[in-house]
Amino acid sequence: MNLLDYLPGVPDFPRPGILFRDISPLLAHPAAFKEAILQLEALAREFDYSHILGIESRGFIFGSALAHQTHKGFALARKPNKLPLASHRESYGLEYGSDSLEIQQSTLPQGVRVLIVDDVLATGGTIIAASQLLQKAGFEVAGALTLLEITGLNGGATLNQKGIANRTVLV
Ligand code: 5GP
Repeated sequence: MNLLDYLPGVPDFPRPGILFRDISPLLAHPAAFKEAILQLEALAREFDYSHILGIESRGFIFGSALAHQTHKGFALARKPNKLPLASHRESYGLEYGSDSLEIQQSTLPQGVRVLIVDDVLATGGTIIAASQLLQKAGFEVAGALTLLEITGLNGGATLNQKGIANRTVLV
């Protein structure tokens, strides 16, 4: 099974010139979704971590399924003003705009090692922001894991330069 077949590119979404990889067909196909989680699990074995941080919103899907599969804890990196308790915030640039992420200050035990999970790695800005958030909050960043890296944007190389170990299932 080639998982890329289930991640079709949608031209000019959300802005002209962007080829957006849609994860919906993969999620709708049970064997493809299962295979994606198994392949993420195989790569996750390369990291030393006790908790997964999923990035809103597609990172929640893969991150929580992976946490369930690997018996790890799961934490939310949310868009601004969604979390009920005191939170840390980090702003960042995107391939198509800018955004902020927040994590709650008191949810995870201090000092745990956290693996960041998202669906797609593009420029790396989102994962760098997530990594800075985790460090601000006193956690160790084990690395970052994605299902797909968009070629040509050098996200993996950018993360390496920042010292964030990263693996992706598909390029
Ligand atoms: P980056 O910060 O690496 O430039 O962008 C990655 C973030 O944008 C991820 O949270 C990801 O969900 C979203 N993203 C960027 N491009 C795509 C894409 O083509 N498909 C999907 N599904 N998400 C994308």
